[in-house]
Amino acid sequence: MTTSFGQSTVLGYPRIGAHREWKRAVEAYWAGTLDATGLEDIATGLRADVWRTLRDARLDAIPSNTFSYYDHMLDTAVAVGAVPHRFARLGLGQLDTYFAMARGVDAAPALELTKWFDTNYHYLVPEIDPDTVFAAHPEKALGEYAQARDLGITTRPVLVGPATFLLLAKGDNPFARLDDLVDTYARILTALADAGVAWVQLDEPAYVADRSPAEIDGLRHAYRRLGELPHRPQIFVATYFGDLDDALPALLDTPVEAIGLDLVAGRSNLRRLAAAGPLRGKTVVAGLVDGRNIWRTDLRAAVTAGATVVGLADQVAVSTSCSLLHVPVDLSAETSLDPELSARLAFARQKVDEVVLLGRALRDGTTTLPAPPPPIPAAWRHDDVRGRLAALRPTDRQRADYPSRAARQQERLALPDLPTTTIGSFPQTTELRRARAAHRAGTLDDAGYTARMRAEVEQVIRLQERLGLDVLVHGEPERNDMVQYFGEQLDGFAATDNGWVQSYGSRCVRPPIIHGDVSRRASMTVAWSTYAQSLTDRPVKGMLTGPVTILAWSFVRTDQPLADTADQVALALRDECRDLETAGIRIIQVDEPALRETLPLRRVDQKAYLDWAVGAFRLATSGVADDTQIHTHLCYSEFGEVITAIDALDADVTSIEASRSKMEVLDDLAAIGYRRGVGPGVWDIHSPRIPPHHEVVDALRRALAAVPARRLWVNPDCGLKTRTYPEVEASLRHLVAAAAEVRGN
Ligand code: GLN
Ligand code: ZN
Repeated sequence: MTTSFGQSTVLGYPRIGAHREWKRAVEAYWAGTLDATGLEDIATGLRADVWRTLRDARLDAIPSNTFSYYDHMLDTAVAVGAVPHRFARLGLGQLDTYFAMARGVDAAPALELTKWFDTNYHYLVPEIDPDTVFAAHPEKALGEYAQARDLGITTRPVLVGPATFLLLAKGDNPFARLDDLVDTYARILTALADAGVAWVQLDEPAYVADRSPAEIDGLRHAYRRLGELPHRPQIFVATYFGDLDDALPALLDTPVEAIGLDLVAGRSNLRRLAAAGPLRGKTVVAGLVDGRNIWRTDLRAAVTAGATVVGLADQVAVSTSCSLLHVPVDLSAETSLDPELSARLAFARQKVDEVVLLGRALRDGTTTLPAPPPPIPAAWRHDDVRGRLAALRPTDRQRADYPSRAARQQERLALPDLPTTTIGSFPQTTELRRARAAHRAGTLDDAGYTARMRAEVEQVIRLQERLGLDVLVHGEPERNDMVQYFGEQLDGFAATDNGWVQSYGSRCVRPPIIHGDVSRRASMTVAWSTYAQSLTDRPVKGMLTGPVTILAWSFVRTDQPLADTADQVALALRDECRDLETAGIRIIQVDEPALRETLPLRRVDQKAYLDWAVGAFRLATSGVADDTQIHTHLCYSEFGEVITAIDALDADVTSIEASRSKMEVLDDLAAIGYRRGVGPGVWDIHSPRIPPHHEVVDALRRALAAVPARRLWVNPDCGLKTRTYPEVEASLRHLVAAAAEVRGN
């Protein structure tokens, strides 16, 4: 029996609870203060809340199995039995095996964590080898389905699809295992059908990136096979984050009953759909409401796009463009936002209403839809910033040639070969966090707070001097977060009280909202940096977050090109660099850890992105004198695809995560002719392990094969804020001693 898909749905909903109840529950379980039953009870309550919310909003197709104890890729790995041997053999119960895969235990390091497409959500990377034995474990999906059914709510279980699962896995050619994995999915689908499931959602977002013809054939073949199952739910293949291009006709060429298209991030999906001709017997699930940003939808424009789809398919449903996992839960929890701003916003709960309204409008054609929000109010415009942007010339993004800069910098800084430094932050102790919280709450006054932070800066400077580092940092004790800190001080940004979004596991972030023209009210970092510099003769690095990273970790306005917003941020940073320089700071580091992360998924879009990203960085950093040394820092990823852009940043020194990849990035840099300073990380700060002296020496010797000593810097992979002081002291001692040994002192 077939049931219709419904008119309106979401591809997923936040699972953290309205007040991050989920975070508190899992962390209590990890700490041993909540037992498994207690954890399950809280999970059960949170799921029920979500389903009831969606039902009461009159959404008519409700997803389930979107809840997760940690991550949905990990859930899928468990559902198909892909538990690596090192975890299976620990002999732990199901839940603890699951958390061991997520977080690691002494005997078994965790699965790798990496960014979910171009978002700031991180998934755990499944490990699939030729000898991985798949087995169907539909228990979680069945359990959630049954729980909702007991509440009188019919749901559509969601799983990551088999092709995307393998394309995102690592191991020895995982995709070669597609046929085997499809057998396992077939068993899962059969079990779901046995339980009365009418629709299942299989997510295949991997096909909005460039895929080979063989990978597209794999998709077609997988869904033909699943489609031919005699006893199965109807299949909805969801795609999101972009255009399907050639994968769309392949998917249409299978018996699946519904296909989801992202009509917000996708620009050619509609055209490709039209080119495929009228679709008989298939539902198109039109992703018309942006699942990744927090702006209200222009419903009138969306309904027009929806009407186009209605002309192309038998059945059309409206949905969010992707899971609502990526936006905060509920705007009604925000009480201190500027009303002009909140009137323009929609969080997950509000987006559900938009989807429902659009579904109705498409069906009835008569529903009156609210007008789109008006253009930004005059108070958010800064004509001076706009004027500066309009007057920019190419020379504003250009410094003198590197060799002459380098000579003047060396004259001024007189650094040894292989200078030692760190990336910026020092441990964020509980005591520091408390002081910041007390200051926010008003129980610690400004003077008390400044004194506390200065004392910390002084300790960090003294420690670095004792350890013998060459270029010092102030330690960033005053920063909660490298983006929020700047967002709070710049015009055009707003912070939310409760706008949390899951980043990975129990970790949530609260991205600021860039809603208006960005401008700097006053200097943001100069007082801290100059105080630190006043304590020592060695150079102290000024420490800023770059424009690309600020945009990547914020919700950004969509009424002007990203490039313009990036340049506005860059101008504020440019002024900050000048102020630092005037105050006597000789080295300024502008961090861009997110440069790789927001790289567009399709190659054709990458050049335009890298052009504006590099341009904004250069605008931020080119206003200083030749003898001011600009550093940048990159981490979190493999850099192969952005290596020429890293060169184009034209920073004097680039520190870059490298310890896990064994310095490979240096060969990549050498291959493209990178000729400036580079500090490949020689200490993996993501682990509590202290790198032994000989290991650092080896790493540096390896590095010297690709980079001459006069351009090689010695530093950790990233900031030290998550480490403890004993780890930091021991590790940095090894770093400094290793540098001395390799220099031949
Ligand atoms: N300067 C920052 C720190 O040290 C850089 C953090 C990052 O790269 N993510 O914490
Ligand atoms: Zn880093």
